[in-house]
Amino acid sequence: LETKIKKPEWIRVQAASHNSRFYEIKQILREQKLHTVCEEATCPNIGECFGKGTATFMIMGDICTRRCPFCDVGHGRPNPLDENEPRHLGETIAALKLKYVVITSVDRDDLRDGGAAHFAECIQTTRQLSPETQIEVLVPDFRGRVELALETFKDALPDVMNHNLETAPRLYKQARPGSDYQHSLDLLKEFKRLYPAVSTKSGIMVGLGETDEEVFQVMADMRAHNIDMITIGQYLQPSNGHLPVLRYVHPDQFKVFEKHAYELGFKHAAVGAMVRSSYHADEQAHGAGV
Ligand code: SF4
Ligand code: SF4
Repeated sequence: LETKIKKPEWIRVQAASHNSRFYEIKQILREQKLHTVCEEATCPNIGECFGKGTATFMIMGDICTRRCPFCDVGHGRPNPLDENEPRHLGETIAALKLKYVVITSVDRDDLRDGGAAHFAECIQTTRQLSPETQIEVLVPDFRGRVELALETFKDALPDVMNHNLETAPRLYKQARPGSDYQHSLDLLKEFKRLYPAVSTKSGIMVGLGETDEEVFQVMADMRAHNIDMITIGQYLQPSNGHLPVLRYVHPDQFKVFEKHAYELGFKHAAVGAMVRSSYHADEQAHGAGV
């Protein structure tokens, strides 16, 4: 019988400080019927992020063609792309007057370009309607179509290109079926080679069974592939049907990871139990001089 490890006291879902900006954003999102990861994943940082004018939008639907057992997104056959989505997204971001947006998607292995052209359109409309807004994209791995996908971003460069490694390579088979560690590293390295002015970023979760040594190795691998920024956060089990949490990393150990990240030359490191891929993304971009 599996016994769950008790959540330590540093894992707490903060009661979000709901300022007026928070309610304004919620209201507009409801009217526009756009999906944010912030709301759907009931992210503990939502009060802080909305309050600062940061949000993460999910494009291309909420059905993924992959099935990672740590992830709460539904899987199956995705819906056709909504060709109005880029305009709709751009208008919403403008209406919300957001300072920093993260645009992400499920994996779309069903599309010839993995959804790259749709991403590019979303970046373009957002740039047109909100020229001051910083844009980060958090992309799938475009496996089998990297060249086409990266070429597509040529006229629609984001400020930050993020793609998560999620975990150590030893755990890929179990945690990331259908994905490949080296492929994901190469994707970011190639993007940086093509578009050196754009910051690259990646992240992992801890608590899926990796050792500290493996975390250090992933960090070194990221730097060896010219990745500029890193996020490390605690994995939390979305439901009993998902992979169990095998450890809660102590805040002191997160500090060790953070210090090591700067020693390795990352321009910014967001490291801590409640860190999510998009948490404090605005500060990261500034840290990287974007
Ligand atoms: Fe949204 Fe990311 Fe902030 Fe969570 S950390 S509220 S997902 S922007
Ligand atoms: Fe979730 Fe991404 Fe895996 Fe799809 S590819 S199941 S969205 S982690």
